[in-house]
Amino acid sequence: MSTPSLAAGGIMKFAKVRYSCLGCKATLAPGDTTLCKHCRNKVICQMLDALGLLLGPFLLAFEDRCK
Ligand SMILES: [Zn+2]
Repeated sequence: MSTPSLAAGGIMKFAKVRYSCLGCKATLAPGDTTLCKHCRNKVICQMLDALGLLLGPFLLAFEDRCK
């Protein structure tokens, strides 16, 4: 299920500077320079976990979403 034009576009993208995710070392999408979407979500979840220790029940809904 691959078209030649899409493959060529992918190669062109790889010609640009690509950053690696600081968390999982995955190649980042163009525009991302630190964390991939997955790790960004994880960091947000960790922050919410830390906040959850302080704020308790208020953030339970967010923590549930991260699991
Ligand atoms: Zn990552």
